[in-house]
Amino acid sequence: MTEFELIEKFFQQTPKRSDVVLGIGDDCAIVEIPELQQLAVTMDTLVSGVHFFENAAAFDVGYKSLAVNLSDLAAMGARPAWVTLALTLPEANEIWLKEFCRGFFELVKRFNLQLIGGDLTRGPLSITVQAQGFLPVGKALTRGGAKVGDLIFVSGTLGDAAFALKCLREKIPVDESALAHLHRPEPRIELGEEILTLAHAAIDISDGLAADLKHILEKSSVGAVIDVEKLPLSDALHAAVSEDEAFALALNGGDDYELCFTAPASLADTFCEMQLPITCIGKITSQKTLELQQNGKIYHGKTAGYQHF
Ligand code: ADP
Ligand code: MG
Repeated sequence: MTEFELIEKFFQQTPKRSDVVLGIGDDCAIVEIPELQQLAVTMDTLVSGVHFFENAAAFDVGYKSLAVNLSDLAAMGARPAWVTLALTLPEANEIWLKEFCRGFFELVKRFNLQLIGGDLTRGPLSITVQAQGFLPVGKALTRGGAKVGDLIFVSGTLGDAAFALKCLREKIPVDESALAHLHRPEPRIELGEEILTLAHAAIDISDGLAADLKHILEKSSVGAVIDVEKLPLSDALHAAVSEDEAFALALNGGDDYELCFTAPASLADTFCEMQLPITCIGKITSQKTLELQQNGKIYHGKTAGYQHF
């Protein structure tokens, strides 16, 4: 198949949006941004052997390459709209491409997106996705807005993806629910939009809670106290490892793609009424450090997140 036949067969299947004036097929895509909205733009690359195992299921690779980008949009409170996809493939393996697209387009459809362009090259397997979404002018949820006295919240449960990865590496059997956290994280788009006007600062947790929360602390020039007893752990993780190991996975494990955000303490009841899938784990302080506590005493654990370099 030629490059153009591949594009036609695999990527033209995208759903169409009315704000796309010109989609796949020309030198550029042309899109229309709604009035009074700004564009949030994010990009992530997944490299075979670095971000996923070389024998990873193509479906999961397709799904996750988009999910991690949507997670970034969620962390700003943006509503996703358009995506572009740059694929570098060692060969035009149609079986692999079909499965990749099944995973990729599952999220495209779920979030009412349109794939508006991309690139196709030959080389070692790597996937770059750019996602674009809308934000009301000036309302973006950044890392820099945390205030002393804010409560700190996280969505979902933490540590499951890192636990699944550890089991895969050590060839220990691991159940489906933990694997799903690793391979098919759920981007918290709805939550991001719900907290947009309520939260002060937010980030998505890709490198581990401690490492990512530190980005909020640095950008906001504040500190935090986290109570490890409050870290939301899944029943599966609780059952599988010791308490200390569960805390370490929740604090330092990567790949959770949950949201961590800060908000005024006065909003705690409102969040309860909204029935958001979140847990309060601590509060923002003026100390400029990240302190871990257990039952009111300092907790000594590892706090470094995953570092690429
Ligand atoms: P150009 O050479 O002008 O950059 P290409 O020949 O690379 O254009 O691509 C032709 C069209 O197909 C463009 O609209 C491009 O955005 C689109 N396209 C190429 N690769 C992909 C892909 N992986 N996914 C979606 N669209 C793609
Ligand atoms: Mg061109």
